[in-house]
Amino acid sequence: MNYDQIFDSAIDRLHEEGRYRVFIDIMRNKGSYPNARCFHGHNGPKPITVWCSNDYLCMGQHDVVIGAMEEALHDVGAGSGGTRNIGGNTHFHVELEKELAELHGKEGALLFTSGYVSNDATLSTLAKLLPGCVIFSDELNHASMIAGIRNSGCEKRVFRHNDVAHLEELLAAEDPETPKLIAFESVYSMEGDVAPIHAFCDLAEKYNALTYIDEVHAVGMYGDHGGGISERDNAAHRIDIIEGTLGKAFGVMGGYITASTKVIDCIRSYAPGFIFTTSLSPVLVAGVLASVKHLKSSNVERNAQQQAAATLKLKFAEAGLPVMDSVTHIVPLMVGDPARAKKISDILLAEYGVYVQPINYPTVPRGTERLRFTPGPHHTEEMMTELTEALVEIWDRLDIELAEAA
Ligand code: PMP
Repeated sequence: MNYDQIFDSAIDRLHEEGRYRVFIDIMRNKGSYPNARCFHGHNGPKPITVWCSNDYLCMGQHDVVIGAMEEALHDVGAGSGGTRNIGGNTHFHVELEKELAELHGKEGALLFTSGYVSNDATLSTLAKLLPGCVIFSDELNHASMIAGIRNSGCEKRVFRHNDVAHLEELLAAEDPETPKLIAFESVYSMEGDVAPIHAFCDLAEKYNALTYIDEVHAVGMYGDHGGGISERDNAAHRIDIIEGTLGKAFGVMGGYITASTKVIDCIRSYAPGFIFTTSLSPVLVAGVLASVKHLKSSNVERNAQQQAAATLKLKFAEAGLPVMDSVTHIVPLMVGDPARAKKISDILLAEYGVYVQPINYPTVPRGTERLRFTPGPHHTEEMMTELTEALVEIWDRLDIELAEAA
């Protein structure tokens, strides 16, 4: 057995398919984001504009968040010092869980070290507690939900993306006595579309199923208090478990679920991904707490970001660029080929100082490779015009046809 040869051929395959991952080495500049410095392939840092950050509202650079983190670092030090059960349950953790439960109108909340872990730990544990449970999963669900479902060992039925009729067909085919869980996202991050939450909840009621929603790309972003699409659509009370991240709109790091006291107590007591790991640093938690509180009472960042996304979509459409039909803050451009998506991204970075990461399989299905732009509240109209002009020039250079201007 030649182990090196096996690893080499695995990597070669990625190169051949044009989807070998290259991480761009950057430093964001606090106070002047989306400007950043790029250390990639140059002798010194080069100024760039970042267009693909999931710090959607720039809360990771907000004074209120940074101030809270500095204060926490000064007051209590860097780390939590243990698992939640053994010394790592700081008052910041307790306060943040209260705040998140209240944000979603639930009895309780539970923090995890990331959104990925929250999905994996919760779904795998929950379904194990329900003997014979069948999980109904949207075909575009995130890898962390898929991992959780797989790790639960339960049977899974995959329904077509956002397809209410197909979900009903699958639910109706099961024994009424079988425990059921419907798992879906609110905002799909690569498409920018939104789940029909009420229709899914209607089915959950009709077939006596639990509902689990991943609001990772929506918390902080939608609803008058940042409670996500379920707040915006007045549906939070109809969902059993709402999951979110603290690393995107809230700008820091971590993940969580909110649910009834009973569900939270079960996950807290049975989920290895919660129990056997050091809890989040109190510095991070203090920053998130400030961020959540701020976004509960301020629509300024949300409104500015929505405005930026609408402007960018319009500019792309007017230029004939293949902007996908997104109803959210996400602005994806369809390319449809991994090598070409990488080429466009490389030219943007090298020649225009624009950083947008190409999105390839397995993040999106093969043949739907794309560039995903996430304009923030601080991307100016001038930046958007320059970006659009750069893309049109590259489309022309690579001989890709532009659509009729919208
Ligand atoms: N769910 C979805 C839909 C995601 O897109 C992601 C990360 N991109 C996660 C969960 C994981 O969240 P985190 O980055 O906090 O681990």
